[in-house]
Amino acid sequence: MPRDDFAQPIRDAVARRASFVCSNPDCRALTIAAADADGSKVLYIGKVAHISAAAAGGPRYNATMTPEARVSISNAIFLCSNCADMVDKNGGSDFSIDLLNRWKAQHEEWVRGNLNRRVDSPLSEVAGSHEASGVGNVTALDIEGPAIIKPGTVSRASGLGNITATRIGQRSEE
Ligand SMILES: [Zn+2]
Repeated sequence: MPRDDFAQPIRDAVARRASFVCSNPDCRALTIAAADADGSKVLYIGKVAHISAAAAGGPRYNATMTPEARVSISNAIFLCSNCADMVDKNGGSDFSIDLLNRWKAQHEEWVRGNLNRRVDSPLSEVAGSHEASGVGNVTALDIEGPAIIKPGTVSRASGLGNITATRIGQRSEE
């Protein structure tokens, strides 16, 4: 193993902390599955990627980082093979250190929030501004299943009739 790569215990920890799911919030691909032909093997398409490059000239290289910090868990993010390639294109210019750190932190939070939950109804994330106005049944933000409501989320409804800014949970019988 080259000196500038992550040690196996760090690779394992990063992958497991991400639940082997890609940390890109727009991707979240599963990266590991049981192999069909060989009952003892897996198909694995995950990558433990460097947030700041391991070597000078690499994507997001930070000259002030110590060699130890470069191979520490805080410089590692779990991605699928596609996203690991994508974030390094054009010298990584579209994917900053800040962005990748945010992906990592938010993904680990999302995984924690989904621990011991059904995979076909994971927590959704709600963010941004939600506004509605009109006459009749007006609902600005309708959240059906379990959700994480991010700080700064705004919901505003106005009009005449049955006005609801935010409805959480199942719709009542009408
Ligand atoms: Zn991905």
